Amino acid sequence: MRPSRATRTIGQWVAWLKSQNCTPSVTPAEVGVCSMCLGPTPIGPQGTHYARCFACNNGRYSTVLDGFVPICYSVNEGLEGAIWRAKNDDLNGWLQLPLASLLWTFLNNHLECIENAYGGKFDIGVTVPSSKERNGVNHLDALLSRIEKWPINWKQGVLVKNRNEPAAERRQRIVTDLFTADQSVNGKRVLLLDDTFTSGGSMASAAYALHEAGATSVVGIAFGRQLNASREEARELISELPQRPLDLDTCPVHDLSDIDLFFMRG
Ligand SMILES: [Zn+2]
Ligand SMILES: [Zn+2]
Repeated sequence: MRPSRATRTIGQWVAWLKSQNCTPSVTPAEVGVCSMCLGPTPIGPQGTHYARCFACNNGRYSTVLDGFVPICYSVNEGLEGAIWRAKNDDLNGWLQLPLASLLWTFLNNHLECIENAYGGKFDIGVTVPSSKERNGVNHLDALLSRIEKWPINWKQGVLVKNRNEPAAERRQRIVTDLFTADQSVNGKRVLLLDDTFTSGGSMASAAYALHEAGATSVVGIAFGRQLNASREEARELISELPQRPLDLDTCPVHDLSDIDLFFMRG
């Protein structure tokens, strides 16, 4: 049963999303997940997990992304399903409300931690355009317009997607001509929002375009770090997700120094 959309507050939408058990928490510095993208890493010849996954370890993503911060994990039919319906199904456009509320709450709690961890304040936030745009509107820009006041300055329409390309073709690689960014990002520190991070190729290709247009720093953020159940190294983590309810007090860049700063500010 969906809540009455007109009367819900941001906090109530987040509570509703939590009750759907589709937003398992991420944990900072967890053994067995990549220190860059928080995806699961395989076990190496020494019998321990690699600290970074293949795509992050060989330098590809770190050449264009200073960091990546997922709000939670996502699996098929979980958060991914909600995002898909919010994006593609007119009758479920209301799902933008809980998703916007989730992002708003996360940024209010952790934007400063992310800025502290990755070199300072962001000048602007921009969205990764999706393959499917309805009426010329990027669905993430539409989602952001559901809430009036954000702790970051979102700028719409900065990135343009040059063509639709099946995700499989860009798996784990940067496609240098997939996106174009306008010059408004020149000299700017950018927070880059996508809905999910699966192979990372889309976000990394968007980050590449932002740097081409002169952005000095790009940090990615996504609602969900998508986990693929067909990947052997993901199975253990996926099996633990039901015991990991959304925890919006913790973020992947939280560490003890962040907590000290928090108390000093308080
Ligand atoms: Zn990685
Ligand atoms: Zn934090």
